[in-house]
Amino acid sequence: MPAWAEKVDTIPAQPGVYLLKDAGGKVIYVGKARNLRSRLRQYARGDDERCQVRFLLPKIASVETLVTANDKEALILENNLIKQYKPRYNIRLKDDKSYVSVKVTVQDPWPRILVTRRIVKDGSRYFGPYDSAASVRETLDTIRKVIPLRTCPDAVFRNRARPCLEYQIKRCLAPCCLPVDRELYQQYLREAILLLEGKSQQLVRQLTQQMERAAEELRFEDAARLRDRIRAIERTQERQQVMAHHGGDTDVWGMYREGGFLEVEVLFLRQGKLTSHQRYSLTDLEFPDEEILSMLLQQFYQGERFIPDEILIPVELDDSRTLEEWLSERKQQRVTIHRPQRGDKLRLVELARENAAQGFRQRQDASAQRQRMCAELARSLHLKRFPHRIECFDISNFQGRMAVGSQVTFIDGEPDKNEYRRYRIKTVHQSDDFAMMAEVLERRFARAKEEGVIPDLIVIDGGKGQLNVALEVLRSLGIDSVEAVGLAKDRVERNPHAVDLRHSEERVFLPGRKNPVILRRHSNALFLLQRIRDEAHRFAITYHRKLRTRERIRSLLDAIPGVGPVRRRRLLRQFGSVRRIREASIDELLEIPGITRVVAERIQAALRAAIPEPRPPSAEGTVPEEPLTAPTGAKTSSLEGD
Ligand code: SF4
Repeated sequence: MPAWAEKVDTIPAQPGVYLLKDAGGKVIYVGKARNLRSRLRQYARGDDERCQVRFLLPKIASVETLVTANDKEALILENNLIKQYKPRYNIRLKDDKSYVSVKVTVQDPWPRILVTRRIVKDGSRYFGPYDSAASVRETLDTIRKVIPLRTCPDAVFRNRARPCLEYQIKRCLAPCCLPVDRELYQQYLREAILLLEGKSQQLVRQLTQQMERAAEELRFEDAARLRDRIRAIERTQERQQVMAHHGGDTDVWGMYREGGFLEVEVLFLRQGKLTSHQRYSLTDLEFPDEEILSMLLQQFYQGERFIPDEILIPVELDDSRTLEEWLSERKQQRVTIHRPQRGDKLRLVELARENAAQGFRQRQDASAQRQRMCAELARSLHLKRFPHRIECFDISNFQGRMAVGSQVTFIDGEPDKNEYRRYRIKTVHQSDDFAMMAEVLERRFARAKEEGVIPDLIVIDGGKGQLNVALEVLRSLGIDSVEAVGLAKDRVERNPHAVDLRHSEERVFLPGRKNPVILRRHSNALFLLQRIRDEAHRFAITYHRKLRTRERIRSLLDAIPGVGPVRRRRLLRQFGSVRRIREASIDELLEIPGITRVVAERIQAALRAAIPEPRPPSAEGTVPEEPLTAPTGAKTSSLEGD
């Protein structure tokens, strides 16, 4: 019996949280229990038949327990500890970046509505998530057409001297410059929130009453405006599918499982209408469904996420009362968690399950298709090993300056962004992409030798020259298990008699072969190689642009007399970007320690001369960052391989 198991009887028989640690003292699992002693006894005796637990057991070297006053405290503490330690064997919901939410800055004196992918605790109200920006755009378009709230960012709002186009087209009351009745603005905000909550019928009723009143009082223009607003709202209402007739806010959870693979679907019903959904894929899970679902609910509803009145779930949970209590406290309103047995609610849970199953099948199909692509690539290029892990390298620089290298990694045909790396070229100071490629590869494979993570195949953006550089680096480091190919872009074929320009095929260079291989134009193998190469190209250019922008910011500020490195850093720390410094008022600039009025005026004059005035707000409600003007003749692209 391991040492920790011998002391299990001394653990209090109380609710709390336990931390399982490995031999290195690393927390590998955090769990909660109503009775810590009996839960850990189960572990110690090996009573727990779950594979996951059996798998965990040999790894446990020590156990730490924390007693809590009740189950709810245990739940909150467990959540916090999972966030803190990120244990290897706990489920962690990765919030997929593809989900967007709508943020209403209710804490602002003049709130605005915008789309965001980040939920932060800043006093704003969040709605969603929505599965795509397109699905949220329709709601926001309606709001912007019928409710005149500001759309500009704070920096623009603070510094406008006159209203922008939004005011001219009657989509904003222009609180930036004009005296606007705050109560009226708040009334509009409440209307917008009703729409975001899916309570459009309630809003239509309110507006209809206002319209009738306006007509009775012979204010026909107002009545016509209200009629148009009602029609616009009704048009979007027609497109929303009614799923439940009780009309509340409900999240419906569905699960589909095949062994250790689990697909989870959450349907969001707002006022009985299906407004959006979210899907999670989890692998290598052998905990029972109820344990997984309980962990998922805890993680899903923590933070600033909207909590509905009712949560429908597919399995009974031991701790559903504790979860209800926790959620009700956070929402400050009663929240119920319910596993329906019959009727409409059961059908909703089944619908969520069907969607999860569908998602699982799609994922399996996509994964099988990616495997086919990898297999075809291996066949076409006569690779010795199956290309499970492919890494692709690219270089980007501007006349040898600010040179960067990129490494993207595809695992089984799918990008793995956690494995992307970027390199600032340190040793090459002239435009020599062979030498730059050599530096990047040397750094990558020197690390690979230490960490033992070696790709099956590397793809070099370039022709024979670049490929030879790669082979030389691998040889010099004594790595012979990695295969390498070069993918050279198509070339314009010069035929003086041809009317149109013709492009040659893309060419794949293989070690030891004089002539390149030409893969069929629409083959899976070529598609995969191009996708990987384009991703490396995009990643390199993005980094290169970032460095250039940073450099340009530095030189713009450094050229202003009185702004040295310290003040420059302070300015950037306070405002975040040159765009925002440009928008800052003199008073705001004066708040920065060390900035005098003379310097503030110089900063404002220099930046306003160098950077054009922002454009009117975009449809998404944000002003896009103006690209800083590049030096004449500047070219921001990677050096082509051939
Ligand atoms: S959107 Fe335009 S008019 Fe409205 S507050 Fe902003 S700058 Fe002023």
